[in-house]
Amino acid sequence: MLTETERFVLEPEAIERLARYGVPYPRHALVRSAQEAAAAAESIGFPVVMKIVSPAVVHKSDVGGVLVGLRDAGAVGAGYERIVDTVRKVVPGASIEGVLVCEQAAEGVEVIIGVTDDSVFGATIMFGLGGVFAEVLNDVSFRVLPLKHVDAEEIISESKGFAVLSGLRGKPRVDLDALVHLLLSVSDFVVEEGDVKELDLNPVRVYEQGVLVLDVRLIARPAPGLSRMGSCSVKT
Ligand code: ADP
Ligand code: MG
Repeated sequence: MLTETERFVLEPEAIERLARYGVPYPRHALVRSAQEAAAAAESIGFPVVMKIVSPAVVHKSDVGGVLVGLRDAGAVGAGYERIVDTVRKVVPGASIEGVLVCEQAAEGVEVIIGVTDDSVFGATIMFGLGGVFAEVLNDVSFRVLPLKHVDAEEIISESKGFAVLSGLRGKPRVDLDALVHLLLSVSDFVVEEGDVKELDLNPVRVYEQGVLVLDVRLIARPAPGLSRMGSCSVKT
């Protein structure tokens, strides 16, 4: 629940802010009509994923706000209408900023990275393997920010699911250097920006080469001297 001064930063703005710190997200465009959606998908390349962008929607799939695997312009145009109609029905009165059309990322090993502002320790980062590891086994690790290189390496290797990252049953080892680099970039972002109340990157896909963040949820609080364009205030 947001307090009056906290704001949910819309995903396109959050992606842009993180990109300045080298955090990679698939190619994307914010569109406001079925026609624009189809044109954006043509230039991004198929298949694409579509996601609702609304200050009233924090968990997009819960309200029918995500479509994956759209393979042609017709499907994308129809997908735009479907997402907007569904979200309007499920969240009556939601203001809708548009739909994000994203390049569909290849399959990979999924991890999650979170940041919360702990009242005792300050900004704290969480890392875990995605799926059952984090959600069912609660196999996650925490460190206080800022992270040093060795902290980033440890937070990854101490997880019980580490075997999945380091090459299990003939599967290739994923790009652990890129993952360490991502954790350090997130640490820099949080420490330097100074307005992060909560950040969730879920999922992040890790490949044999490189990583991609597929979902960003950022809650910001006012930072003295920083004015941010394009964000929105949410009162609860
Ligand atoms: P939510 O707000 O529901 O968490 P996400 O942005 O995480 O929304 O999207 C839901 C799911 O859709 C993700 O967990 C992932 O499996 C898939 N997904 C999202 N974006 C992409 C993408 N660019 N490429 C491939 N799959 C994606
Ligand atoms: Mg998500």
